[in-house]
Amino acid sequence: MQKEIPITVAYGDGIGPEIMEATLKILDAAGASLKIETIEIGESVYKQGIASGISNKAWETLQKNHCFLKAPITTPQGGGVKSLNVTIRKTFGMFANIRPCISYHPFVKSLHPKMDMVIVRENEEDLYAGIEHQHTDNVVQSLKLISSVGSELIIRYAFEYAIINNRKKVTCISKDNIMKMTDGLFHKTFDRIAQGYPSLKAEHMIVDIGAARIASRPESFDVVVTENLYGDIISDIAAEVSGSVGLGGSANIGKSGAMFEAIHGSAPDIAGKGIANPSGLLQGAVMMLKHFGQNTAAQKIQNAWLKTIEDGIHTGDIYVEGRSKAKVGTKDFTNELISRLGHMPATLEAADFGRDERRRIDIRFMKLPEVQKKELVGVDVYVHWRFDKDISGLANKLKKISIGGLVLKSIDSRGLLLWPESSAKSEINDHCRCRFMSEKDGTPIKTDNIIELLRTITQMDVEFVKTDNLYTFNGNRAFSVAQGQ
Ligand code: NAD
Repeated sequence: MQKEIPITVAYGDGIGPEIMEATLKILDAAGASLKIETIEIGESVYKQGIASGISNKAWETLQKNHCFLKAPITTPQGGGVKSLNVTIRKTFGMFANIRPCISYHPFVKSLHPKMDMVIVRENEEDLYAGIEHQHTDNVVQSLKLISSVGSELIIRYAFEYAIINNRKKVTCISKDNIMKMTDGLFHKTFDRIAQGYPSLKAEHMIVDIGAARIASRPESFDVVVTENLYGDIISDIAAEVSGSVGLGGSANIGKSGAMFEAIHGSAPDIAGKGIANPSGLLQGAVMMLKHFGQNTAAQKIQNAWLKTIEDGIHTGDIYVEGRSKAKVGTKDFTNELISRLGHMPATLEAADFGRDERRRIDIRFMKLPEVQKKELVGVDVYVHWRFDKDISGLANKLKKISIGGLVLKSIDSRGLLLWPESSAKSEINDHCRCRFMSEKDGTPIKTDNIIELLRTITQMDVEFVKTDNLYTFNGNRAFSVAQGQ
């Protein structure tokens, strides 16, 4: 007898209840060993005035079971509510989003008959930390934060995923030709970790050409690992060109919990009609069984599902006259699939998930990088200063300053150098970065010097809106220079 997986199930909104009922029926018929507890989330909970979309009691169930099979929910329009997905992801430290994008040619229409790729997207960092500020009338900022530990975690996960799932290649996607520090860290981490997996091919692509290739030649990709924002975009491109957006499932894997779902929404336009395709949620459930080591049941379902699709038993969303054999509703599709449990597909490649065993990806070895020799060598002071082409007024004020060796070295706006020598012809803005460093670059300065500097700037009627300290680590410059510097 298989060890039961304790799971929390939410039937969700719209078509959610129909596709969840179908999915659980198939899981049961395939012999999946689950201990199910049901919770209510989504529209009905939001309507009770609970802004998170989940009650405290439901939350306790989630925290007890660590595994969540979730049907889509309808996100209420207007402000005041929080995204339930984001709350769950953050609480359970779900650092990885896994989305397989596969084409089922010739049974489901696809631009790319041979596509079979998996996108492993970092889920906790990057611009999605949502740290944003307005500094001036003209300028707002969003902070992109990438950590060494976060990069190592997702990249290691991608390589381990590739090994466990008999994949051959891992492609890293970043934009380190422009963001040399943040994306550079991600890329360098990838290169380092790849060395520990000599049996896998490892390659890197810049996100622009990478996204274009995913759209035009997706068959050349296997496992793709990338940061949060790029992952969001390319996973939608990949799902779209596979032709099977409605058939895709996804997994969110965390340090203390995992969530499995369909990638589509609650489809309110067809809710209650009995015509929804349960395949996306079922694919999420198959990923769940594999994650917890119930590979026999997962494989049985997957092969029966492939056979059903191959036999042309299609719900309305993928039904094509001539290509499909029978147009069925949710219940009939479910029953047809169950009658094929134990059967193998004849044309599509059969699933082979190996023996039952939970192969945990060990993330306990994650540790902070070694402590380096860190020295403070300057400060970037961002100021609110309106200017129309001419920055000399600001420069003339600030170049009078000399505090503990700190002097004005440069002024730029949005990274474009304006002073001392500028090639910028027609810059207007109200947001400047003023870089102060010791007269002799690289000589360490004191924090007190920066505090004194800010006081002096304020007394000169210049408003500072933000500062960033400039450091060297082990003697290496650890900040970028302005364009044109
Ligand atoms: P949607 O994915 O619900 O629907 C888009 C189109 O695809 C519709 O025409 C729909 O009928 C069809 N469709 C989707 N799933 C289908 C299925 N299984 N079978 C047959 N047809 C299917 O996207 P939407 O209309 O933009 O969003 C509806 C609601 O879902 C919104 O409130 C949105 O916020 C929410 N949503 C929730 C999740 C989630 O809970 N994870 C994800 C995406 C959207």
